[in-house]
Amino acid sequence: MPELPELDVLTENLATHLAGATVAAVRPYSVAALKTVDPPLDALVGRAVTGTGRRAKYVWLELSGWYLVVHLSLGGRISLGTRPPPRRGAVLALELADGRVVGVTEGGTQRRAAVWLVDDPEKVPGVAGLGPEPLDPGFTVAVLGSILAAGGHTLKGMLTDQKGMSGVGNAWSDDVLHRARLSPFARPDRLAPEEVARLHASLVGVLGEARGALAEQVRGQVVIPKASARQFAVHGRAGAACFVCGDTIRSVWMGERETSYCPTCQTGGRILADRRRSRFLR
Ligand SMILES: [Zn+2]
Repeated sequence: MPELPELDVLTENLATHLAGATVAAVRPYSVAALKTVDPPLDALVGRAVTGTGRRAKYVWLELSGWYLVVHLSLGGRISLGTRPPPRRGAVLALELADGRVVGVTEGGTQRRAAVWLVDDPEKVPGVAGLGPEPLDPGFTVAVLGSILAAGGHTLKGMLTDQKGMSGVGNAWSDDVLHRARLSPFARPDRLAPEEVARLHASLVGVLGEARGALAEQVRGQVVIPKASARQFAVHGRAGAACFVCGDTIRSVWMGERETSYCPTCQTGGRILADRRRSRFLR
């Protein structure tokens, strides 16, 4: 699943390529994906792209006051080309006056793509209620502290709960916790002030560096970049050696998700027990 670094790169490259482009026609392919009817999509014809934006997995094009918001779930794509998107998996196409086509497509068998046309992205139900984005200038140590103080989760659960903070998912949260030297099972409301500061620095550092590296990787193309295993410190590297201490990276299941961590760096050497399995044994 793409997260903040991947989708920021997509959003920035869309802005670069589409600045000033004018919509000639809108072709909806999937009626089920279109979540708004008023205004009709044809309201975009003749409008210029004035910007792009993103919150969590919602990416939008701004067209002189209207926002075409797309939710990019697993397999969702936004592409830019000179032909309509392939019929299979096509959700929507914006034909531009200069002949280019912005395509929204989704792969796989699950049909989860969703598109809204609104005058304010906050009117999209999933966007309203999202927590702050960790790379926003307003995301200070104090803001993080107040999110953590709400408790009610493991630290890993809190980082990936989009209502607490948005944009961080299962993959990058593993690396954020590793750099912060914190256990995924730590209680968020019990962190010491220096641990909160460390977690803040790690969020900003890991996500900012990932965004920079992924931007270089795709060289301005309108695609969702994909980080390779060697770009992660611990995520997806269970069984390999930790770059920092040489210990063997472990993984643990929390509900339906696999979390990777380094025992020496993060849990004082303790091996964490699967939470899913312990529930079955009880
Ligand atoms: Zn380590």
